[in-house]
Amino acid sequence: MEMPAPDQFTLSRKAEIVARLRAALPADVVIDDPAETRAYECDALSAYRCPPLAVVLPYSTEEVATALKICNEMNVPVVPRGAGTSLAGGALPTADSVIIGVARMNEVLECDYKNRVIRVQTGRTNLSVTGAVEEDDFFYAPDPSSQLACAIAGNIAMNSGGAHCLKYGVTSNNLMGVKLVTMQGDILDIGGSHLDADGLDLLGVICGSEGQLGIVTEATLRILHKPEGALPVLMGFESNEVAGACVSDIIRAGVLPVAIEFMDRPCIRATEAFAGAGYPDCEALLIVEVEGSDLEIEEQLDKILDIAKTHNPVELRRASDAAEAGRIWLGRKSAFGAMGQINDYMCLDGTIPVSQLPYVLRRISELSAEFGLDVGNVFHAGDGNMHPLILYNANKEGDLEKCEAFGAEILKLCVEVGGCLTGEHGVGIEKRDLMSVQFSALDLEAQMQIKDVFDPKWLLNAAKVFPLDATQSRRDGCPK
Ligand SMILES: Cc1cc2nc3c(=O)[nH]c(=O)nc-3n(C[C@H](O)[C@H](O)[C@H](O)COP(=O)(O)OP(=O)(O)OC[C@H]3O[C@@H](n4cnc5c(N)ncnc54)[C@H](O)[C@@H]3O)c2cc1C
Repeated sequence: MEMPAPDQFTLSRKAEIVARLRAALPADVVIDDPAETRAYECDALSAYRCPPLAVVLPYSTEEVATALKICNEMNVPVVPRGAGTSLAGGALPTADSVIIGVARMNEVLECDYKNRVIRVQTGRTNLSVTGAVEEDDFFYAPDPSSQLACAIAGNIAMNSGGAHCLKYGVTSNNLMGVKLVTMQGDILDIGGSHLDADGLDLLGVICGSEGQLGIVTEATLRILHKPEGALPVLMGFESNEVAGACVSDIIRAGVLPVAIEFMDRPCIRATEAFAGAGYPDCEALLIVEVEGSDLEIEEQLDKILDIAKTHNPVELRRASDAAEAGRIWLGRKSAFGAMGQINDYMCLDGTIPVSQLPYVLRRISELSAEFGLDVGNVFHAGDGNMHPLILYNANKEGDLEKCEAFGAEILKLCVEVGGCLTGEHGVGIEKRDLMSVQFSALDLEAQMQIKDVFDPKWLLNAAKVFPLDATQSRRDGCPK
């Protein structure tokens, strides 16, 4: 993956840039010691690393605005950062950039149960949003598997999803308003605590914009009443295709489980060795969760189990109590870590129409044989959001490039069957150069013109999201 060479003039002014930031911000906010900035050299796409010029960790929106204003005046590239768990390289710095991270801004600002909203600073982790309201029987629905670590900041920037988004929608469906600081240091309030804001849907533009348009420092999120109950069922199948067909049939039948998660044999085996969740040794398994009152749960489960039985499952296990339900989910939630223990892997993220699952899973295993790289599948099957994990050896020359070429074929396949390049991890650097597979030059131009408005000098996360050749003239046009 190519990143543009750092700008030598900016590098030569490091001392001056740091001095200006230090003069305007509290002493501990600006970090430029290479031993400390190294901690910010990558995100969870750790195959790519580069320490930034400096790191700024503000305590308030006003400090974010001050830092951005200075960087804008001095033409210094900026990389916004939440918790650094992006799998697409979205928070990867360049050597001439300043990281502005919101991790210290993690307060709950307002809990409004009457209107079912919570206002938080965006450095707050996803799970701790629910943590703030669960005693009162509320929760925040989007639940990325990284929810213990990832911040609402990155969730908004990547429009993150999770297992339970089949029923509740992704971040954009649960975000009501944001405070956004522009590259020029202006503080904007977009949306609010009411449904459907007046005027242009700028919130829709900001959510999923991957740090290209400004830095989000506060968010108003929808919170929901906890369901009366929930129950997961574990289903084992003799092949990936059969499990895929079962998912497609459940969705077609009009039942709406809260989650349908898929794992294939490599992931099941790795997870069992890691977490001992008691999964069956089968080719593919599904975890289907339904929720509601006891009666609603029974009704939905009856329908789902009837459908599953037509696919000759090798295992059908309903959780009998909370401990068993926890064990069923433990395996799924540990899958990424378990795979990481046995091999280097690259986690892909593409979305397909659910009816294409059987075909796409078969093509992925054919491609795996062609490229000579193993692949494990663990993903949110109910909404067709696939996460093939391609296993490779980071220490073997050429393996990373082979892995990327394999990944590109899978993502092209997603587009070919009517899906798209990303479901929830965003584009970042990972899929940047594949954007032209999905979008025409005119489509891309329209998207880039939106960035022109918010960030005319192309200083925010400039070498990401759009293919490098499409942005070259804009990036070159940035005054030095
Ligand atoms: C083990 C594992 C499991 C995962 N599971 C899921 C999953 O189930 N679902 C899912 O959607 N994702 C998942 N992810 C990916 C990742 O956690 C999400 O993309 C998450 O939203 C990133 O949040 P972050 O705070 O870590 O953002 P970062 O990694 O810090 O940044 C992500 C992007 O957001 C931008 N950004 C950060 N802060 C701001 C801000 N304040 N304003 C504007 N832009 C900003 C960055 O520039 C970057 O482009 C997983 C990651 C890992 C490592």
